[in-house]
Amino acid sequence: MRNTEMLLIPGPTPVVDSIYDALAEETRSHTDSRFVAIYRSAIEKTREMLNTDGEVFVISGSGTLAMEMALVNTVSSGEKLLVISQGYFGDRFIQLGKAFGIQVEVLQAEWGKRVSPEEVEKRLAVGEFKAVTITHADTSTGVAADLDVLVPVIKEHGALVILDGVCATAAMEEDMSKTYGAPDYKIDVILTGSQKAIGVPPGLAIVAFNQSALAARQKIKGVPAYYCDIYNWIPIMNDPSKYFATPPVNLIYAYDEGMRLVLAEGMDERYKRHEAYGKGVRAALKEYGMRALAEEDVAAATLSCILYPDGLNDAAFRAALAEKGMIVSGALAHLAGKAFRIGHMGNTTAQMLEKAIVLIGETMNELGYNVDSSKATARFNEAISLCTK
Ligand SMILES: *Cc1c(COP(=O)(O)O)cnc(C)c1O
Repeated sequence: MRNTEMLLIPGPTPVVDSIYDALAEETRSHTDSRFVAIYRSAIEKTREMLNTDGEVFVISGSGTLAMEMALVNTVSSGEKLLVISQGYFGDRFIQLGKAFGIQVEVLQAEWGKRVSPEEVEKRLAVGEFKAVTITHADTSTGVAADLDVLVPVIKEHGALVILDGVCATAAMEEDMSKTYGAPDYKIDVILTGSQKAIGVPPGLAIVAFNQSALAARQKIKGVPAYYCDIYNWIPIMNDPSKYFATPPVNLIYAYDEGMRLVLAEGMDERYKRHEAYGKGVRAALKEYGMRALAEEDVAAATLSCILYPDGLNDAAFRAALAEKGMIVSGALAHLAGKAFRIGHMGNTTAQMLEKAIVLIGETMNELGYNVDSSKATARFNEAISLCTK
């Protein structure tokens, strides 16, 4: 393992050596048949991961670009968008929608809680919404959306379901062929980035459109974007030897290797592993008097937002962990200083998380608490074995 630190933040996440090796391969022409074959394979693997017969896009950009691409190709200026927001990244769709003249309405949950499906139902009943955005795992709060409950409500009202999977894809179930209660009740658009649960360095925007979403694009006369217009990319995704804009050649090598690892592990295995990590980390930290912002029944598998016990200083805590080679994130907005966020996704292993739990315990003891890390690691291992049975 080339990494010298444990990058346990909600993205970027730990990169493994075979991905670094791929990244360091010789840069070739984007039209070289050897590169084209790898790009084609990366696109195919993405299609397989999301189980879609629609179009997938793997292009330079971050998760935010993927959000923009999802939105501008489905919802026109003047049309209505409903944003289901369970934190900071849900709210980002409000700004995005406004930037394109979209009429945005928003249902915001108190941080740490979910928006109720009844509220969604009520709002959809009184307006013609073109699409609804859901953040699968909101990285600010560690709250996961319940797709089984939300997708049917949205589809009943004929709106498109746009799923932000930036902190979830490859770790929490996202299957574009899955039907949610009726044959045509499916997730229409999924967007993500390379650097979170997929575990590849940052720099790729990944988006998938199903046939309904593609039909919505067809009805739009002119998309208010150029780089983000999927019609400029469909020919490339179907034949990567064609040119529209230079793809990030080395990052595509890395992504293809990352996706190989994802598919080799298997999607169901990955969903189970992440569920186990989330439960395990939160159970362990509870032993230290640390509570997750999100209750267990709404908590995300990929990251947790953990409230500090009284008196624990955020800056001192995170600096002491960094000294020990473990990086976690501060909390956002009104939770800054009151909580930290720990990622447990992608190429992160149970061994790394067990070590992280020990280091957190050591740090707390240095800062004047009296905690027992052996109890905490025992809770972690119990939770893991229950989930992976
Ligand atoms: C990180 C994140 C984003 C933004 O992605 P960038 O790659 O930082 O642009 C969007 N949504 C969610 C849920 C995220 O976790």
